[in-house]
Amino acid sequence: MTGSLVIAGLGPGADALVTPEVSVALAAATDIVGYIPYVARIPPREGQKLHATDNRVELDRAKHALEMAMSGQRVVVVSSGDPGVFAMASAVFEALEGWTDAQSLDIRVLPGITAMLAAAAAIGAPLGHDFCTINLSDNLKPWPVIERRLRLAAQADFAMAFYNPRSISRPAGFVRTLDVLRQECRGAQLISFARDVSTPEQHILTVPLAEARAEMADMRTVVILGNTATRRVGRFVYTPRSVA
Ligand code: SAH
Repeated sequence: MTGSLVIAGLGPGADALVTPEVSVALAAATDIVGYIPYVARIPPREGQKLHATDNRVELDRAKHALEMAMSGQRVVVVSSGDPGVFAMASAVFEALEGWTDAQSLDIRVLPGITAMLAAAAAIGAPLGHDFCTINLSDNLKPWPVIERRLRLAAQADFAMAFYNPRSISRPAGFVRTLDVLRQECRGAQLISFARDVSTPEQHILTVPLAEARAEMADMRTVVILGNTATRRVGRFVYTPRSVA
């Protein structure tokens, strides 16, 4: 039997936002690998093995998935949202770099709806003009890199989406992020906190940057800062397509 490896995105949470392509791959899998809460979203199937692991060992998880595929299994590695956005696809390719035999495996990456796009849709259209995306976790990069990117993006008036904004182990990082943004942006600029997007617990809060507090974000929140033209219309927030 020839093995295969699919790296699939489960979307932000709602079953309706899992793509049909991903559902087909999940149904055909012999083995599903992923971080515990993501694997928990997959209903158990006869003859299918679920391998739920801790998030801190991404490279080990990728190697394990490749080993199973090399031994003939149909393996699906799952991420939330999109697997290429701060997630498992890069970890699998990193594991592949040192493993020439595995490079001829049947490997596919299946996209998913990433958190910022589901959040933007719930907010209105805050990402309607140029924007950038920054992972605020300093687990895999030093803080000065994050701060430099924040400052330059703010100076260029990009809207920004922030992933992993504030964890219990890094309480100071988002406080510093807000300080840097306040130094570089107008206090009136709108910032939205979108938590548990697409689930029954979804909660959206938009405030001017001057009123934002670090406690408004946690690891289940994606934060979207508008550019200087971003504004409210009714209960929505949007960024115009054009720049004056
Ligand atoms: N691959 C994922 C991102 C993984 S990083 C994706 O494409 O969405 C994990 C971060 O994603 C979280 O800390 C949070 O910032 C964001 N996130 C994931 N799902 C979310 C949801 N349903 N609502 C709000 N933020 C979410």
